[in-house]
Amino acid sequence: MRVIAKDAHQIDPKSVHSSAVSIVSQLKKAGFDAYVVGGAVRDLMLGGHPKDFDVATNATPEQVRGIFRSARIIGRRFQIVHVRQGREIIEVTTFRGHHESDDAKPTTSKQSDKGLLLRDNVYGTLEEDAARRDLTVNAMYYDPDTESVLDQMNGADDIAARLVRIIGDPATRYREDPVRMLRVVRFSAKLQFDIETQTEYAIETCAPLLGEIPAARLFDESLKLFMAGYARSTFLLLLHHKLFQYLFPEPTPLIETQERYKALVSLAMSSTDKRVRDNRPVTPAFLLAAILWPAAQDRSNALIRQGDAPTQAMNSAGQQVAAAACLHTAIPKRFSIPMREIWELQPKLERRQPKRVKELLANRRFRAAYDLLLLREQSGEKLDGTGAFWTEQQTLFPELVGSAPVKDDKPARNRRPRRRRNP
Ligand code: ATP
Ligand code: MG
Repeated sequence: MRVIAKDAHQIDPKSVHSSAVSIVSQLKKAGFDAYVVGGAVRDLMLGGHPKDFDVATNATPEQVRGIFRSARIIGRRFQIVHVRQGREIIEVTTFRGHHESDDAKPTTSKQSDKGLLLRDNVYGTLEEDAARRDLTVNAMYYDPDTESVLDQMNGADDIAARLVRIIGDPATRYREDPVRMLRVVRFSAKLQFDIETQTEYAIETCAPLLGEIPAARLFDESLKLFMAGYARSTFLLLLHHKLFQYLFPEPTPLIETQERYKALVSLAMSSTDKRVRDNRPVTPAFLLAAILWPAAQDRSNALIRQGDAPTQAMNSAGQQVAAAACLHTAIPKRFSIPMREIWELQPKLERRQPKRVKELLANRRFRAAYDLLLLREQSGEKLDGTGAFWTEQQTLFPELVGSAPVKDDKPARNRRPRRRRNP
């Protein structure tokens, strides 16, 4: 195996999180092997600041739990251990092994007839673990003691060449876990790396396999794709590889409006990216409202043609479009409800009824609804100066904007995003 000595890579040991270093050292003291692994090593090699640190070890989840009082075993399909150190949670995973091995029992490993990995709890060596990871650049192991990097899959070469390359035979790896295609695109957009030819080529034939992924996992993955500050470039790349349609199949509007649709979603994504860069709060509800807007609008127009009043039409359309979208990407209620509220405000903003102005300004979704309205105009919808009208109203009554009391809102609990791990 290739070992990159400390003076041959860029990792500054001070950038490695002390909690991760401490967990590695405690595992070693107990007689196990342990390394910092995955995205953290990749980002450190690139001179960046990893957002989280993962540890890989040859200790089993039970053994890890025996060492750390704060450890909790998570997951079934792919067991991992969360070890809490102060406010940090470090994910500790046990080296994964080959599924074909003799000791692979049905309780630890399971594969569907199409090759999809249903369970992945066969443990193995570091070498086997590296081969089971998704990308070469995600399969490097850093030893905080020697400061060297173990690079079984030549990830360092791909970092230097700026290439996203899947480990092993691309089609087989996509069949095992089709979400890897989304990960390839995500890292290509985030790192601004090209996709290696074979890695890219297999996506075309394997893309339909994404239809078999549970909607809840696709939602989790969508958050990673679109809420991390690289939404726009990720979106364009997903469109290019015809993967976006597996996340959101509904809004495939007529060909002639497709460019407008692309523009609308790109603009929404750019604005989300900018907010992430500026450390301002972002909600998936706004992005989802933009992504599914054409579907909601088409549906609402159809209902209006059948005689519904605009407000009622948008209300029913919102319900139907959200329900249909959830079959593919399971949007939790805490996002689909505000998404629908943003839609329901659109016809009301378009009407500009003088006696409703203050009430609409005060609506707690006004800002988001107004932002969507502006994006609709910017992407080419003709709304007869509605945006400018509401821009002016806000300057007239700035204190009113979003001032209405929040109804029925439970106090925001301290929700940590769930981290779901996959084979
Ligand atoms: P991020 O910066 O988004 O956290 P990451 O590389 O750390 O990137 P995670 O989703 O946190 O990504 O996963 C941690 C590591 O687990 C990856 O680096 C990769 O080695 C491995 N991994 C994650 N998902 C898969 C998968 N679907 N198939 C194979 N290996 C995976
Ligand atoms: Mg990570």
